[in-house]
Amino acid sequence: MLDLKKIKNAVDSAYQESLVESGGANADYIPYLAQIDNQLCGLSVITTQGDIICVGDSQYRFAIESISKVCTLALALEDFDAQTIQQKLGASATGLPFNSVMALELHGDKPLSPLVNAGAISATSIIKAKSKEERWQRILAMQRKLAAAEITLSDELNQSEQTTNFHNRGIAWLLYAAGYLYCDPMEACDVYTRQCSTLINTVELATLGATIASGGVNPVTKERVLQPENCPRILAEMTMEGMYDSSGDWAYNVGLPSKSGVGGGLLTVIPGKMAIAAFSPPLDPIGNSVKGQKMIARLTQELGYNLYKCS
Ligand code: GLN
Repeated sequence: MLDLKKIKNAVDSAYQESLVESGGANADYIPYLAQIDNQLCGLSVITTQGDIICVGDSQYRFAIESISKVCTLALALEDFDAQTIQQKLGASATGLPFNSVMALELHGDKPLSPLVNAGAISATSIIKAKSKEERWQRILAMQRKLAAAEITLSDELNQSEQTTNFHNRGIAWLLYAAGYLYCDPMEACDVYTRQCSTLINTVELATLGATIASGGVNPVTKERVLQPENCPRILAEMTMEGMYDSSGDWAYNVGLPSKSGVGGGLLTVIPGKMAIAAFSPPLDPIGNSVKGQKMIARLTQELGYNLYKCS
């Protein structure tokens, strides 16, 4: 049995301690993100039993951004077998920034991971759909089922991204040229950009993670969303690339599968136990929330969770 009081105390102190941290800066290559209040800060835990513990701006809805890549990967694993996903998208670290073209050049244009932009655009393109609208609706439905919430697109954010996503469009065409894109490249880029432009709060994000932590059953709705065998694959992908080019350092220091987004969200999954979601907009140079990392590192250490722990 989890000690909920102990978790609540640890959540509160991790949050309090992070408030003095002032480093980092909002992402500004997407104009919408630059103007978000950089003082917002929230932290939530959802256990696999459905207990909810939260503090701070835990109800504030922020841009899901790259964390959406986890949902689309989950759907791709529901649509195809694990070997197909490994072969077409990959399951390794690029060791390079999340939007790196050099990472493609170095690997015959194979994306290597569905959790970098290239692999995520490719994952979006592989989802079974007869039209762009169906592709988008299936991905949105997966976000909703995982988060147990009516996740919606922010028109303002989507507009901000669609009118500035030229680099991602270039990546889509490179993938297409190399045979790693499975629908029209601009359809894939459009839907990928939409999936990044939905809003989510830390309670919903923690629910999304707790669904994976519990082997695919949403602890809030009790609905089976994912096949149990897909959850370890999702977590392995998160370990390898969820924190981009600092995924190795994160594994070394924290030892738990996680996924960040440039909207300031950060999700950590503790298999079989719980998920933790943090939100704070200022990012480090790699694109991971500064306070988010602080809070989750502090909290998981306090609770004694680390996948690589031996005793
Ligand atoms: N929509 C963003 C992009 O494509 C997501 C990146 C991120 O969160 N790392 O650049």
